[in-house]
Amino acid sequence: MMGALTERYELGPIRPPSEANSLLIRVTRNCSWNRCRFCHVYKGEKFQLRSVEEIKQDIRTARVIQDKIKELARKSGYGGNLREAAAMLCGNLPNDAYRNVALWLYAGGKSAFLQDANTLIMKTGELVEVIKFLKETFPSISRITSYARSKTAAKKSVAELVELREAGLSRLHIGLESGYDPVLQFMDKGVTAADHITGGSNVVESGISLSEYVILGMGGRGMWREHAIATARVLSEINPDFIRVRTMTINQRMPLHNDVESGKFIRQTDEEIAAEEKLMIENLECHSYFVSDHIINLLSEVEGKLPEDKEKMLAVISRFQALSPEERDNFKVGRRFGIYSRLDDLNDASRRDEVNRVMERVGLNGDGNIDEMLYSLMERYV
Ligand code: SF4
Repeated sequence: MMGALTERYELGPIRPPSEANSLLIRVTRNCSWNRCRFCHVYKGEKFQLRSVEEIKQDIRTARVIQDKIKELARKSGYGGNLREAAAMLCGNLPNDAYRNVALWLYAGGKSAFLQDANTLIMKTGELVEVIKFLKETFPSISRITSYARSKTAAKKSVAELVELREAGLSRLHIGLESGYDPVLQFMDKGVTAADHITGGSNVVESGISLSEYVILGMGGRGMWREHAIATARVLSEINPDFIRVRTMTINQRMPLHNDVESGKFIRQTDEEIAAEEKLMIENLECHSYFVSDHIINLLSEVEGKLPEDKEKMLAVISRFQALSPEERDNFKVGRRFGIYSRLDDLNDASRRDEVNRVMERVGLNGDGNIDEMLYSLMERYV
């Protein structure tokens, strides 16, 4: 039966965590900029636009796969219960394209994500054609999202972005990272704070929902304060729908690793990053949802709607800061080993014992080696 399931289409390497259940359609290959020092995802890969026909062919193939999975569900006796059938089939499918379609069906078949790093770089007319074709081919899709760069969004007119929204583009995910020009320059981000504001504001004005990603710790010890304040100012000007934070995590595939080795970039500890996050939130004057939806963030509970949840979010950080140094270390290790997810978990005696055992096993005895070990643990997540 599985022998006949040979179709496949092209998939890119990443999508945001919030798009884990989306149908993935690769509309460009790799990153049109590809120079950011903190990013390894597309390094060594050449940027390429794909033709509209090539993308449409992938969409048609995804449709064939969907129909075959539905047929399998019917023949396996699951009938109308597609969710159950997709779950049953997921671990037993021939390739990533099949698994993506099955997962997407399992989640209800409503969202699609257009890969790779900067979809807006396509000609507006061509992207409109792709989006319309995707919706015609999959009438169940009501939400289409993608990544974009601020610089490219700044070059699109609001009228073009409105055209994309009317075609069906619902949300753009933009890596703002920092609103402080010296940090952006050091990281070779290829945009300025002004570009971020123009690009982000264009998207907001068009009515496309906007998620801006910020990297906590991107200023390092040298520029953390300026990074926090300037990023808050830029975000406040844009007023995106979502602000999503990530914590700076450096691996050996990133050019930034050399700057750490040479001492040009000094990483912050979790305590220093908590102080930075607090300063940024204090300075935010916008009406965005603040979201911490990545395992690499220490304080996942720092989430809420601004401005009404601001005090509640700041209180989480203050609570962490008020812990004793031993409790903070215990929480940091527990969080990065996946034992804790929130500060309240410190009150769970069995989890706490487990963390203590882990600390003993890996030799974390309070001699100041915790931060180095945490940096290498976090590398697993990027
Ligand atoms: S623009 Fe985005 S994908 Fe491209 S190099 Fe920078 S961080 Fe990576």
